[in-house]
Amino acid sequence: MTIGKRLAHLQQHIQQLEEQYARPRASVQLIAVSKTQSIAAIRAAVNAGQRDFAENYAQEGLQKIKLLANENLIWHFTGKIQSNKARFVAQYFDWVHTVDSLKLAEKLSQNRPEDLPDLNICLQLQRDLNDDIHRLAHLVTGIQQLPKLQLRGLMLLPIAGISDFQQQRAVFRYAKNLGQSLNLKALSMGMSADYVAAIAEGATMIRIGTALFSTRERTE
Ligand SMILES: *Cc1c(COP(=O)(O)O)cnc(C)c1O
Repeated sequence: MTIGKRLAHLQQHIQQLEEQYARPRASVQLIAVSKTQSIAAIRAAVNAGQRDFAENYAQEGLQKIKLLANENLIWHFTGKIQSNKARFVAQYFDWVHTVDSLKLAEKLSQNRPEDLPDLNICLQLQRDLNDDIHRLAHLVTGIQQLPKLQLRGLMLLPIAGISDFQQQRAVFRYAKNLGQSLNLKALSMGMSADYVAAIAEGATMIRIGTALFSTRERTE
């Protein structure tokens, strides 16, 4: 199956799930995780109508952003940010999903160019699902005071190895409840293996790699 076909199937499935789980139409956005994918593969998705792409490595992402600059795409950073790369991420990406400290947020804020729109960010929840709501609330307040940033929501990293649907839902419900407590709207959660459960629990952005691109061209 081609990338275009898989994209069409995914879009159809998302629409069907929105209905099934009483989500508003078009409330779930598909972000194509293009890490390790070639420019040709990304172009195939672009030609099929995909506009939002996510990258995990600053260097690789930068290269792709520059090569595809004419396409007017929206770029999401979803990897771990090394502090010496924060400047490039703030300059070239539209969204950063992996903000986990005030220090990192400050660095992104300081390095966001004045002539660009605010950088959209999500707070990344802890892998062990052991977030302290007071710490999160404190972070939210701190980040909301920084210029050139828009705090949109929460992000949940992939949690490998949970194949039971109800267990998957429980994990995503954890993130949803935190988002509601903090009054944050966006929920970046769910990937190829668990996006159905994520949509059931209110994901607004699902991050899909393998289900769209089929294989990664190199392993991580
Ligand atoms: C790779 C990756 C994804 C996509 O995973 P797939 O299983 O390929 O859909 C989503 N989120 C993050 C943070 C990733 O690193």
